[in-house]
Amino acid sequence: MTAVLTPFLILDGLFLLMALLFTWDSHREGERRALKVGLAGVIFTLALGLGLFLPPFSLWAKLLLGAMALLLVLCLLPGRPNPQALMGCKGYIVGEVERFDERDTVFARNRSLPPGSEDYKAYYRMHPEREEPDAKRRALGGTLGRVGSIDREHRPNVSMVKAAMHLPLYLRDGERVEPEPELPPLPLQPEEATRRVKGFARHLGAALVGICELDRRWLYSHRGEIFYDNWQDWGKEIELSHTFAIVVAVEMDLELVGGAPHTPSVVESGVNYAKGAYIATLLAHFIAQLGYPARAHHLRHYDLLLVPLAVDAGLGEMGRNGYLITKEFGPRVRLAAVTTTLPLVPDKPVDLGVQVFCNRCLKCAETCPSGASPRGPRWSSTACRSGSSTRSAASTIGPRSGRTATSAWLSVPTAAPTAPSTA
Ligand code: SF4
Repeated sequence: MTAVLTPFLILDGLFLLMALLFTWDSHREGERRALKVGLAGVIFTLALGLGLFLPPFSLWAKLLLGAMALLLVLCLLPGRPNPQALMGCKGYIVGEVERFDERDTVFARNRSLPPGSEDYKAYYRMHPEREEPDAKRRALGGTLGRVGSIDREHRPNVSMVKAAMHLPLYLRDGERVEPEPELPPLPLQPEEATRRVKGFARHLGAALVGICELDRRWLYSHRGEIFYDNWQDWGKEIELSHTFAIVVAVEMDLELVGGAPHTPSVVESGVNYAKGAYIATLLAHFIAQLGYPARAHHLRHYDLLLVPLAVDAGLGEMGRNGYLITKEFGPRVRLAAVTTTLPLVPDKPVDLGVQVFCNRCLKCAETCPSGASPRGPRWSSTACRSGSSTRSAASTIGPRSGRTATSAWLSVPTAAPTAPSTA
């Protein structure tokens, strides 16, 4: 009797374990509806196990377990590849793409339009409907509010954010690199150049690196961000004749990202922007030493949109939240890029099943406080930076339990900050 039941008992134990894990994870994430579903699953599998030993129900319990096992196997079979995903961004483009104007990013509007300046007047003549909401946002201290305001501006953490964000500024002279005239281009086969470029990028700290041909639709149309008092560049058309983009991703720490929207997650963003800037700048200079022009694109200098380039370079797919979702780290990466004319071998876009999963998941759409992750296919960067919230879309992806990072060196203060000691 027990020997006959053994395979069914193993199956039931497996389903019970899955239901318990589901219940625990739902509890951890504060998902009440999923928690109820998980508990119902636990009770159901326990009842099935009991039913195996009760002759009137035994046959039904065995049939149900068999059907559930079959369903599980069917779910584990790989689905058909998504041909759209395998085409990269091209697979999703409908109609003409107008290049995005960097002046329209909320960051540029907030920090590169001094109120009263000629640029300010010119911009709001073009977009009068944006003047009032932008003014409200500025009054709150900037696009994302004042750094660390969610944690009463706990000074150690805010200092780390500012320190990290400064590094890309120091790399100004390394953004655009032309080869020295006495250095003729080193004739390299694309395969060898690709191997060396990717190897160096990884050695510098890139967790992922991919290459694509530069699709000009992902270039910004006009300069909008000004960091070095180069106000004459505001509104200039962005030109770039490079043919390839090398996109690098650096991994962000899971624990710190899980603490979003508290300041430790911003520290981690800043640190990884700095790492991306460092890698991109060295890579650009390496390519220039090989005799080819190169440009580093990072936090303080973007000529282009990084997420679509990363998709085309095969690093992942774009999720409903507008972030790159990678196979290795999910959306927990920061990106930087180098463009060049050095002949390289492009990578192929990948199908990770993100589009199908996002169609069903909707978690970011349901939890985003400003509605920046829509239920439909479009993503609104304007809503993402709504003046009423310091949260970004990314902050809604992690657990909703209010968990904060526990690293001692990045603690969130539990008491009101006190004046620094003068001792
Ligand atoms: S939370 Fe869900 S819907 Fe949103 S990006 Fe992630 S997987 Fe897609």
